[in-house]
Amino acid sequence: MSPSAISTTPPNGMDKTTDLAASAIEQKIAETAPALSKIASDSKLAPLDASKLKFTRNTTPKTLPALDDPIRNTSSFCTDHMITAVWSASTGWAAPELKPYGPFSIMPNASVLHYATECFEGMKAYRGFDGALRLFRPDCNTRRMLTSATRISLPAFEPSELEKLIVNLMAIDGAKFLPEDQPGKFIYIRPTMIGTHAGLGVQIPSEAMLYVIATYMPVLSEPTHGMKLLASQNDMVRAWPGGFGYAKVGANYGPSLIAQQEAKSRGYDQVLWLLGNEGSVTEAGASNFFVVWKSKEGKLQLVTAPLADKIILDGVTRRSVLQLVRERLSDNKTGLQPLEIVERKYTMTEVAEAYDDDRIVEAFACGTAFFVVGVSDIHHRGKDLKIPVVRGNAGEYATLIKSWLKNIMYGKEQHEWGYIVEPKETL
Ligand SMILES: *Cc1c(COP(=O)(O)O)cnc(C)c1O
Repeated sequence: MSPSAISTTPPNGMDKTTDLAASAIEQKIAETAPALSKIASDSKLAPLDASKLKFTRNTTPKTLPALDDPIRNTSSFCTDHMITAVWSASTGWAAPELKPYGPFSIMPNASVLHYATECFEGMKAYRGFDGALRLFRPDCNTRRMLTSATRISLPAFEPSELEKLIVNLMAIDGAKFLPEDQPGKFIYIRPTMIGTHAGLGVQIPSEAMLYVIATYMPVLSEPTHGMKLLASQNDMVRAWPGGFGYAKVGANYGPSLIAQQEAKSRGYDQVLWLLGNEGSVTEAGASNFFVVWKSKEGKLQLVTAPLADKIILDGVTRRSVLQLVRERLSDNKTGLQPLEIVERKYTMTEVAEAYDDDRIVEAFACGTAFFVVGVSDIHHRGKDLKIPVVRGNAGEYATLIKSWLKNIMYGKEQHEWGYIVEPKETL
């Protein structure tokens, strides 16, 4: 669809064209999670309810792999249990279950296998240096999951109920797979929703399943000299206006793998995703991207792409970085100069210009998977920008921000973003 088709305003003042997604999503929420909806609904469907959780203990629990067991680096080793919750358009959400991790069967004509009705979240549980097990801002992940699910016509749910389910999974499996005597370790949690409706018609799934699994993930080794980014070429974009770049849906990732592979084969770590002829800078791989530069007027700024045009993902790490910088880097108390936060559309041309003028201070990418990683190189149209990494593999700001976040995640700083999970033997 051309941008002009998206922005046509009909005479009655309400923009029916741009409203296509927004009103459909509002309707979906009213039908499937009426408590969340602004519009009236007489829906009788059962809401997602964590208090109904049924528990079946795994009677063949796994052996905890040793710290040096290579299985830990494969992202294939899941914990003993998982959460599942089944939804149907006629009854709503059935009682969720916490049960042994294992395969489930779906029909070959299931919606998800044909029409990409799949969305997911990525978060971690951290074993703190104070012994506590923490989630980091789980409310942000569960709210984003609602956004992603409804964007692809999967049912809505109360995010706080999903949060309780995640907490229950970690309360059961956390103590074993993240032992208290191994502080500084994490486990990756993957809430997922799929359309299970069996039928090949291109239609909204009338059946769906929500599930949550937890797995070991390799500690993504930080590039010793910082991350090298290859700016995307014109024949490949990650997301576009009116699309779904802001949703964590599987459909965003499969098609980007070939670019990632090509970047790797050319010696780069990730693709820096640009958009449009003007080369708007959006994200780095599946991470948000930040530049610290001096503006032409000499202002020290932290620049990142905006959320409003729905091209980039509203990263929990991104949002936390911005909040911490706003709270802690607005004065001179840290020893580093204050940063002005700028969330706006900016282009690779501006970055290259700042580079030529020697105004780039540093750049970094951030997300749950990579955490905060300094960027050392950006290759764009035959030109290599060498970004300063004065602290070995990152700049001063990235290094400081990273330490703040780490302290919160691992309990060195008690902070409201750290949600403590109390272990349970049974439910
Ligand atoms: C998951 C993801 C991020 C990072 O989000 P966090 O909530 O910080 O983990 C950024 N961009 C994309 C495209 C992502 O998929």
